[in-house]
Amino acid sequence: MAAPLPPHRDRDLPVGTRRILHLDVDAFLASVEQALHPQLAGKPVVVGGSPRSRNLVMSCSYEARRFGIRPGLLLRDAQRRCPRAIFRDGDSQAANRLREEITRILLAFTPRVEVASIDDFFLDLSGTQRLHGAAFGTALHIQKLVREHCSLPLTIGVGTNRITARLAGKLGKPGGVAEILPGYERTFLASLPVDHLPGVGHSIGARLERFSIRTVGELALIPREILFASFGRNGLALHERAQGKDESPIEATHFEDEHGRLHARPPRSLQRETTFEPEEGRRIIIEAMLSYLVERAAHRLRQLNLAARTLEVRIRWVDTRPRPQRSAPHKEPFIAERRRTLSSPTDATDEIWRRSLRLYRDLPRKRALVKRITLRLSNLTCTEGWQGRLFDEAREQNPDTGTSRPDRQRRLDSALDQLRKRHGFGRILRGTSTPLEKTHPLGPDGYRLRTPSLNQ
Ligand SMILES: [Mg+2]
Repeated sequence: MAAPLPPHRDRDLPVGTRRILHLDVDAFLASVEQALHPQLAGKPVVVGGSPRSRNLVMSCSYEARRFGIRPGLLLRDAQRRCPRAIFRDGDSQAANRLREEITRILLAFTPRVEVASIDDFFLDLSGTQRLHGAAFGTALHIQKLVREHCSLPLTIGVGTNRITARLAGKLGKPGGVAEILPGYERTFLASLPVDHLPGVGHSIGARLERFSIRTVGELALIPREILFASFGRNGLALHERAQGKDESPIEATHFEDEHGRLHARPPRSLQRETTFEPEEGRRIIIEAMLSYLVERAAHRLRQLNLAARTLEVRIRWVDTRPRPQRSAPHKEPFIAERRRTLSSPTDATDEIWRRSLRLYRDLPRKRALVKRITLRLSNLTCTEGWQGRLFDEAREQNPDTGTSRPDRQRRLDSALDQLRKRHGFGRILRGTSTPLEKTHPLGPDGYRLRTPSLNQ
């Protein structure tokens, strides 16, 4: 029998208290460069490409932040602020590899590991106190392991749910471990600006401001009926969050098989989106971007052996025209989406592209510029076994040529997938996305978008 753990701070918590960790790699892509090239440690590193290009900073080390460099800044301005900064392209393959290593380290503590984005993770340690001790101590331990094995700096937030863990992490940045103690959620949240709560975006924030609600504490005092009347279901969620409550479970997104190989569990939906910087008005570029998002999403769908039945295209515009009133011109966003469910699921790039283009063209026309475009595939089903059957059906339907349109498309898709596996995604692209060459640099991994997670 293992020696009993020394007394720790989680020992007397009520049974069932959730222990959630949020882990975030500090300055991820810049830290990956420093991990790969130890001579860069302690130096101002900027990832995004050459400062002579018109690209933006994707990531920068904390040493670079001291000079006022931030993600989203033009690289050329970054160089002006810190002439001795070191500019790198970034290495998405190394980044993916290191992210997998972190995932493996986390899986040693609990199977409930959620890889939430390119560089952040959630871990559910509820009920592991007897094994691992207090969540805070486990967080320190994980931080040390990741530093030793991956040479990456982590900030970890500890809380009783996603929201408090994430907010605690914000306090601990960079490189710290911060905890919001069980029972103190509401007290902690009360003084925070209301837009720190997830779900309080631009428009809800502005409406709350009109009621003079500026802190989470002020929001927590509003009866839920009133929030429901003002914001519908979103209002109910806001009410819960303002009290520091969030029941949403941590999804186990990855697992290791008996040979120690890491696998992603099939997602419930697949989303690819990007932001235009500056906003885009040219239809040809927007449609080319949609085509590129379709290519990436369909490729991923096939990698996961999935097919989608529901497609959705969402656009966010901003009206950048000066307003007639005396108020300063401001950017008013509007969002519209079109969704369609097919009679049978598909994983074919060509079909998803034709249908998404139709959805996009069905959206209302706006005299405004496009800020963001999103493609979402949902209603996913497993294609194993299904692909073979389709081949046979197609042959039966078309005995003369032996190949039907879906059959040919399927062969084309699988040939392209093979080539990309060998040569990189960006080496083979469909003609429909080529107008992007004018606006986005092309690398072996594909176009360089504002959303680095697209390179996944
Ligand atoms: Mg990060």
